[in-house]
Amino acid sequence: MFRQLLPVFLLTHLLNFLLKISLFALKQFKVDIQPPVDLQPSGYKVLSPLEDPLPLVEKVVEKKDYRKILAEAEAQGKPISHVRRIKPLCVDVDNCPVCGAPPDYLYSFGKDPDGFQKLQCKVCKHQWAPGKPAPKKSRPTYRCPFCGSALIQDKTRKNFTVFKCRNDNCPKWLNHRKRYRFRAFDVDFDELSSSSPNAAPVNLAKSHFSPFLIAQTVNLYVGLGLSLRQTVSALQHIWQVQLSHQTIQNWVVSLASKLAPLVKSINLPLSGLVVIDETYIKVKGKWHYLFTACDGLRGFIISQHLSPHRDALAALTILKEVIDRYNNREFILVTDKAPIYDVAVHFASVFFGANIRHRPVLGISPPPGGDSHTYRPYKNRLERLFGSYKAHYKRHKSFSSFEGAVAHALLYQLYYNHLKPHEASDGKVLAPLKDKRGHQVDNWVKLIQWFVELN
Ligand SMILES: [Zn+2]
Ligand SMILES: [Zn+2]
Repeated sequence: MFRQLLPVFLLTHLLNFLLKISLFALKQFKVDIQPPVDLQPSGYKVLSPLEDPLPLVEKVVEKKDYRKILAEAEAQGKPISHVRRIKPLCVDVDNCPVCGAPPDYLYSFGKDPDGFQKLQCKVCKHQWAPGKPAPKKSRPTYRCPFCGSALIQDKTRKNFTVFKCRNDNCPKWLNHRKRYRFRAFDVDFDELSSSSPNAAPVNLAKSHFSPFLIAQTVNLYVGLGLSLRQTVSALQHIWQVQLSHQTIQNWVVSLASKLAPLVKSINLPLSGLVVIDETYIKVKGKWHYLFTACDGLRGFIISQHLSPHRDALAALTILKEVIDRYNNREFILVTDKAPIYDVAVHFASVFFGANIRHRPVLGISPPPGGDSHTYRPYKNRLERLFGSYKAHYKRHKSFSSFEGAVAHALLYQLYYNHLKPHEASDGKVLAPLKDKRGHQVDNWVKLIQWFVELN
């Protein structure tokens, strides 16, 4: 009897033991690094251009130069003379808003329907009513891609305005009984800028801790990817320094906020091929989207933007950073097929005159032939970057503040681009930096010093 019980007794213990191990393992590895599936498409709906093509856009009035026009007219033997004025101009105006011609070339041209005095420029023929309150934002005229009619403003929502085609003979309306609609951004494009830590909680220059210790802490937290708590314990073990995780967080945010404006001035060896995609991270328990632009050939990060929404505005924000980097030069842009990127590229072309050859790619292993097959490998490169970022992020699980998450992303970008040896590149750094003496900047102490000298 005892002999028979023994194996059962052992088995129970063994099973209990195995259960404990697996529970322990589950606890260790159960990390939210991906939001639930149903969360994913919601952002697309917010600003998707629906299934319809984008509208035709009449650009905002193009700026001209009156001196050029005058010279051309002169060359053609038809010089444009000053206006011969009998009485002075009844409105006070500096020059023509389109070509810059001085008041000598402007004359009164009746009144507009609202009773405002209109002027016409003799040089460029532009007509306007200077006294009329200007509309808040100059917007181009959008035309229906099905019938060519000008779209009419329909509804205003946060960040965008809906326009629709009211033409009753529009093929879209006649064939589908649906009006063509388009959602236009309503933001000040000059103020569009990626997320950046703004406030420095502490003044690092006045810290009584050494710059060396601060640099080593950043290395543990960002370079080795330890969590704040693990960093606290590593510092205690290695340097016998007792710091709170809040102190470390303050250092990270302060350092990132000092570096953020300078990061944009680092010269990156841009290849002409850009990949943009987004990954998910949690901030205070809520999913956020980390939009990342990387160089498709050389792999370094060009810019990042953290947004609580996965919408076209966020896509446009990161795209604007890339456009600024490229400074009007043409580039190829690889993204997935998410409509937010179509909308962003369309707007960038219209408003920033950006020169983008957009190549949206489909699927993980697209069939040979076609853009998806050609450009997929570059997208994979960014996915590997996300993989290595996520390996770090896994230990953080969720950032305790938006500033903290942005700061971490920015410092990670610096580490990834300028310090980290990459296996795929024969252990080389993707975008090496040289100090004044021509030595490579290969650790945080030198990197921080490099920035101090840059300033
Ligand atoms: Zn003019
Ligand atoms: Zn129409």
